[in-house]
Amino acid sequence: MVTINNDSAPILTHSIEHLRQQVQQWHREGHKVAFVPTMGALHFGHLSLVELARQKADKTIASIFVNPAQFAPHEDLATYPRQEEDDLNKLAGAGCDSIYLPNSNEMYPGGFSTSINVDDLSSNLCGISRPHFFSGVATVVCKLLNQCTPDFAIFGEKDYQQLLVIMRMVRDLDIPVEIVSGAIVRESDGLAMSSRNAYLSDANRKIAGQLNTSLQSAISILCQGAAVKRTLHDTTQSLRDVGFDELDYLEIRSGTDLSLYGPGALSTRQLQDARIFAAVLIGKIRLIDNMKLKP
Ligand code: AMP
Repeated sequence: MVTINNDSAPILTHSIEHLRQQVQQWHREGHKVAFVPTMGALHFGHLSLVELARQKADKTIASIFVNPAQFAPHEDLATYPRQEEDDLNKLAGAGCDSIYLPNSNEMYPGGFSTSINVDDLSSNLCGISRPHFFSGVATVVCKLLNQCTPDFAIFGEKDYQQLLVIMRMVRDLDIPVEIVSGAIVRESDGLAMSSRNAYLSDANRKIAGQLNTSLQSAISILCQGAAVKRTLHDTTQSLRDVGFDELDYLEIRSGTDLSLYGPGALSTRQLQDARIFAAVLIGKIRLIDNMKLKP
């Protein structure tokens, strides 16, 4: 039995019916509702989205659901960090009005056979090494939005490709919600906060911090007019030198539609729109990050 140690305890909701009743009541009362979907193991990155939700709307709902459909058989579904009691206390402390903890059987009833594919935006970056991933994300986010019917749904730029996939899905399927994005929250050495950072040993945690340094330095060189191909080649080498085992990708792409930029120097227009995207491995732990070239 999970308890929340907080005076203004949020309403805990496990069923779609209860969630809908709650949101309908708030809407009848004239409130705007913002929704923050998560997979738990919460950190300040997640809580910053709750804060943004509270700025946008009168009522805030966060969900915690480790979505099996976005993990491949060889990925870390079984070991994904789970700390429900701690998460509930964090969400209560952050001022959430309601927490939705979907039931797996209700989410994926027997015979479940529908999936959503946002083909174009899912075909590069993480979509190459994780071909199942964006379909799993889009399907569960579509379901969560249908279940919750919020006015706003908040997603982090940490998962930038995911953010664009969700925005495109919402547009293509006419889902009546406004998607709002939140900036990446970082540790003091620049490492983007992630639930998976908990897997890092002390030594690997030090290496992980170098990802931000290397990306910042690539950005500064690119902004001085260096060619993309050469800069990414040198950055790849420096990432290997500081201890990353593998690079899944390191690319410059449009922040609007993920089209690939380079190999030459970026035009002024491209510089305004471009982001650097990286996925690296330390041992088996995969870290992703991205940054805008021009703030
Ligand atoms: P997750 O629990 O990893 O599925 O993430 C839930 C939401 O939190 C997603 O919209 C993520 O993009 C967002 N998020 C995760 N890490 C961060 C971070 N460091 N800064 C901002 N948002 C984040």
